[in-house]
Amino acid sequence: MTALGWHLSEKEWTEWLRVLLESGIAVIAPVLGTTGTSEFQRVGSAEEAAAPPPSRTAMSPKKFLFPQSEVLFSFDFSGESATLSQPEMERGRQLLVGLRPCDAAGLRRLDEVFLSEPEDPTYSERRQRTVIVSQACTQAGQSCFCTAVGGSPSGREGADLALTKLEGSGDLLLEPVTAGGEELAAPASASWRPITAEDRAQAARQAEAVTSAITREPLPPNAPPILASSFDSPAWAEVADGCIGCGICAYACPSCSCFDITDSGGAACGSRCRSWDSCAFSTFTRHASGHNPRADQPSRYRQRVMHKFSYFPAEHGGEMMCVGCGRCIDLCPAGVDIHHAVLALASGATLRVQARSGVKA
Ligand code: SF4
Ligand code: SF4
Repeated sequence: MTALGWHLSEKEWTEWLRVLLESGIAVIAPVLGTTGTSEFQRVGSAEEAAAPPPSRTAMSPKKFLFPQSEVLFSFDFSGESATLSQPEMERGRQLLVGLRPCDAAGLRRLDEVFLSEPEDPTYSERRQRTVIVSQACTQAGQSCFCTAVGGSPSGREGADLALTKLEGSGDLLLEPVTAGGEELAAPASASWRPITAEDRAQAARQAEAVTSAITREPLPPNAPPILASSFDSPAWAEVADGCIGCGICAYACPSCSCFDITDSGGAACGSRCRSWDSCAFSTFTRHASGHNPRADQPSRYRQRVMHKFSYFPAEHGGEMMCVGCGRCIDLCPAGVDIHHAVLALASGATLRVQARSGVKA
């Protein structure tokens, strides 16, 4: 890569998005809905994508790489012949903008799952035609803990282009992270100004301010092995207290990748579908015999925590399968808090876990 980055006015940023839209690229961005929360959706105009809401979306953007439900193929036995057909997929490029650094890092965790040999062909096809622009955070939420799991509010992991909005002027710094990001931006960049040392100093000050606003504690470095030795701890019942197995924690999570395969239709014709699944569901591990090796919610919640903070790191050089976005904390109807759960287990104590609304009795 050659470019070090560009300084754009809001007008130039919006104009670039307009050029990309007009060239046929699908632009996906967080859009504020009528309920006051924002969600990623395909936008029809550059203005919709140009100014993302300051806080992250309720749900992660993973459905644009790993849809909540999709038909893998259909089958048809007509007469003497059998036909297998795959659904029409979009083939054009897609640009994801307005992702927070934790979102982009979460999608990279999905890459590790779906692009490991043997690659998942539908995920790989979507990934290859996707460019990701992550935007540095300008505020920290109460549930954010990216810094506790090796991330940063200005991190670039998983991004092709990194965007920083400068407070005051509202101008933007756009920096290529991968060759794909640079290739997309290069044609428009001739009229953009280069980033100055002063720009970088302001971006660094902003990043430091957001980082220091994150109040949640880092995890102890030996959390994975301590968790691994805590499989039978009574603390699991305590940290999962109140879990109703709704699964929203997995559905909202940018790095949860479990899915189920179902066939619908009849003997003559039908479809095979892949849909998101959750280890919180009572049917997740239930055998055909009716036996369920994870018979209760604490054992299911233990699986969620152990997978993200012990099993995955053990196989991926210590990298957690949680990027600290805090979505599962905000959305859990029972106040279960995964950050507090890991701290409690890693401390080796059966602590009463503080929920966001107070301390559980
Ligand atoms: S969101 Fe909360 S209640 Fe629902 S499955 Fe997850 S931990 Fe359990
Ligand atoms: S486990 Fe919770 S905090 Fe961690 S990445 Fe998933 S949704 Fe975010």
